[in-house]
Amino acid sequence: MLKGFGSRLKAFFSVHSLDEDFYEELEDLLIEGDLGANLAMQISGEVRKLAKSTKPKTQKDLQLMVKSILKNKVHGYIPEISKDGVTVFLILGVNGVGKTTSIAKLASLYQKQGNKVLLAAADTFRAAAIDQLEIHAKRVGCRIVMQNNGSDPGSVVFDAITSAKAKGEDIILVDTAGRMHNKENLLRELSKIDKVIRARGIDDAHYKKFLVIDSTTGQNGISQADLFNQAVKLDALILTKYDSLAKGGALVQIGEKFNIPIAYVGTGETYADMHPFDEDEFLDSLVGLDEK
Ligand code: GDP
Ligand code: GDP
Ligand code: MG
Repeated sequence: MLKGFGSRLKAFFSVHSLDEDFYEELEDLLIEGDLGANLAMQISGEVRKLAKSTKPKTQKDLQLMVKSILKNKVHGYIPEISKDGVTVFLILGVNGVGKTTSIAKLASLYQKQGNKVLLAAADTFRAAAIDQLEIHAKRVGCRIVMQNNGSDPGSVVFDAITSAKAKGEDIILVDTAGRMHNKENLLRELSKIDKVIRARGIDDAHYKKFLVIDSTTGQNGISQADLFNQAVKLDALILTKYDSLAKGGALVQIGEKFNIPIAYVGTGETYADMHPFDEDEFLDSLVGLDEK
């Protein structure tokens, strides 16, 4: 994981004395690692300040120092699932990031934890999306609420909430479209779903909005977080394809810029490949501390 950047940072720390060049090169390296110019400058500045007082001697001292600086920019998130009343998870993200797969994994996980789970097929933009979710529902063994291709996603969600309340289900996982004819349509559709959920009496404690991001996308993840955060206020991220994570720096930027924590990471294609985000493991890997 993060092989490139972590090992480069580690190698850089092993050969440098802390002169003026060091801070400039550190900044360049952080930018190459997808942390962005502003954050790179900020981190390099903090290292400069800390180095004066703590006088790091070894490569490891420097790795730990950068980790401690990044620690307050990246956070985990554990969703609380209320035992009274249904909790709605709205799963958002652009096409192909892994929304539908993540929903199947979460359904499997939450069922194992003893919850009754319902899927809502609110990606009505593509017929294949509804079929795909239905196959997952059968495999995982949970119910699904769906309507015809092209129907109003708000209406699917309305039906799902009504149905889950009637059956006493604990969790609804809502699949959504990742693309519309244009951005405005997508934002309007998602805002409408959000409105329907609230209008059906789902309060903040029973409502989680997760953005799915492909771990390998880098800078694009930042504009995606920005876009979806405009439509609904995001609670947390799900990082898919974490098994091939190569662009960790961009995730730090998302944490810093939008103050969005990370709930889960997807590490493969089976239902068991979904895990709570481990902040320490992520940061160790980012600064190369996981390498022997
Ligand atoms: P959606 O368009 O956002 O609903 O994306 P899908 O759930 O259909 O997934 C798109 C592709 O990514 C599929 O081929 C999935 O098998 C794959 N995928 C999704 N999550 C993961 C993951 O965590 N790891 C890996 N390796 N592949 C994933
Ligand atoms: P609006 O504020 O005038 O759009 O009305 P609502 O907030 O009551 O409804 C918003 C959306 O919820 C509608 O466009 C429908 O998709 C859905 N909706 C409202 N009432 C019903 C209903 O009785 N059945 C179903 N299936 N959907 C409904
Ligand atoms: Mg999908």
